[in-house]
Amino acid sequence: MRETTLPTVILGAGFTGLFATLHLCQRRYPQHIVLIDRAERFVFKPLLYELLSGEMTDSQVQPRYADLFECDSVTFVQDDIHAIDLEQQQIKLVSGLYYRYSNLVLGLGSVPIYFGIKEAEAHTFSFRTGEDAIALRRQLRDCLQRATQASDEQRPGWLTIAIVGAGPSGLEMAATLADLLPQWYDRLHGNPQEIRIVVLNRSREILKGDINGHLREIVQNALLSRTVSVEIIQGIAVKSVSPDTLEYEQDQEVKTLRTATVIWTAGNGLHPLVQQLDILPEKRDLAGRLCVTPTLQLPDFPEVFVGGDCAVLEKPLPATAQVAYQQGATIAHNLHAIAHGQPPKAATVALRGTLMKLGLGESVANLFDRVPITGRAGHLVRHGTYLELLPVYVHNFKTTVGWLTDELFQHHGQFASKPRKPMRSLRRVGDIAAAIVVASSGLLLWRAAQPTQFEQALKPTQLPALLNRLQQK
Ligand SMILES: Cc1cc2nc3c(=O)[nH]c(=O)nc-3n(C[C@H](O)[C@H](O)[C@H](O)COP(=O)(O)OP(=O)(O)OC[C@H]3O[C@@H](n4cnc5c(N)ncnc54)[C@H](O)[C@@H]3O)c2cc1C
Repeated sequence: MRETTLPTVILGAGFTGLFATLHLCQRRYPQHIVLIDRAERFVFKPLLYELLSGEMTDSQVQPRYADLFECDSVTFVQDDIHAIDLEQQQIKLVSGLYYRYSNLVLGLGSVPIYFGIKEAEAHTFSFRTGEDAIALRRQLRDCLQRATQASDEQRPGWLTIAIVGAGPSGLEMAATLADLLPQWYDRLHGNPQEIRIVVLNRSREILKGDINGHLREIVQNALLSRTVSVEIIQGIAVKSVSPDTLEYEQDQEVKTLRTATVIWTAGNGLHPLVQQLDILPEKRDLAGRLCVTPTLQLPDFPEVFVGGDCAVLEKPLPATAQVAYQQGATIAHNLHAIAHGQPPKAATVALRGTLMKLGLGESVANLFDRVPITGRAGHLVRHGTYLELLPVYVHNFKTTVGWLTDELFQHHGQFASKPRKPMRSLRRVGDIAAAIVVASSGLLLWRAAQPTQFEQALKPTQLPALLNRLQQK
């Protein structure tokens, strides 16, 4: 085993960095780990829509890092990273602290890009963090309140929500708001049908170039059948954004949309710290992402591992959470192997199908990219899958139980279609069956991954003893 006093430093505690750290803890990695992130909480981004809508709580979607580690070898530092010096193997933080490292993991993700439309950054809402979700919720509630007191001429501006970008994030947002805002506005005694959800897209088709592209028809139909239909304006270029208008060009004509809320989902850009690294353009892709070896190391700095949105392999992978957390697991494996004098292995990423939220209580789950499951069944599969993935099994278990209770005993609002009585009871039976499958697979997964914790936590319920007896038979 290599002797060194310098720690392994992990930059960014997102899907790459956090999952690498958790796997290193599980493997009892012999070196000290310093994990650095500017945020206090991990954000499970695919479930941010649920935080916005109130379908899930803060602690479920964005647990505090302090609640995620039970491992003495990890020091979590909440700070902004200022500079990375690959030659000197040193990190500087905005607070003035600095760390030297023996190994470095880069998992800084990406940043929104505004294509030079300056006002866009100042006057639009981005949707990447818990703070973004809370700020957007506040804005939407405020607009609906103002609409109830506005003149007929002013009201449309408060009730029109523009979403720039028709990739998965923009469309999931549109579908969520097209069900959610009518519910909120109805409670204020407004007319829900006055709400407009407008998606503006540069390309002439939605989901262009995205791994979800083959779901286009399913998504389009779902957007049309929300409580208010989602409008999609395609083949346009956004020109400017002000606090109450959005200007765009379509067929060489400049048009104005009156709206107080523009949500920007139009693209992922290179993280500035990754851009500033002293790495030649030929060791990057056209977007500036860092080319890595199959083992996820930088070719000229083998002590540095890179994963997620800032890395690119010879055969590029989509910038998604499922790629990032699997790469995080491989990075942990490789760091552990190197610490024990063994060779690192090549990363293999299994793309496990795609999941998209298409409204309140409705999703499409395209299992193994072959079998699309839609509607409420899709919603249960999407939630169940994400709950399995939430970091640390105890958190996962608590969240699963909370979610199941909500699903089984709460209604999804008055605007969800109301089936007739026999259909309702059939749906309830189906839900319960699906929920039981999700819950039992969660429990078995937890038992397989952390048998001691499982045994201790559930001992009073006699469940571990029962499962042990069944296994022995
Ligand atoms: C709204 C939304 C929905 C999404 N839905 C899906 C989905 O359904 N399925 C899917 O597979 N993918 C989804 N994605 C994409 C997915 O979340 C990303 O691809 C994934 O998070 C990338 O992981 P990462 O480790 O590269 O970076 P991230 O998970 O973004 O982590 C980067 C971390 O670095 C930290 N950081 C950045 N800069 C600094 C700094 N200067 N100092 C300190 N800390 C810093 C950040 O706080 C963050 O914690 C979604 C993304 C968004 C925004």
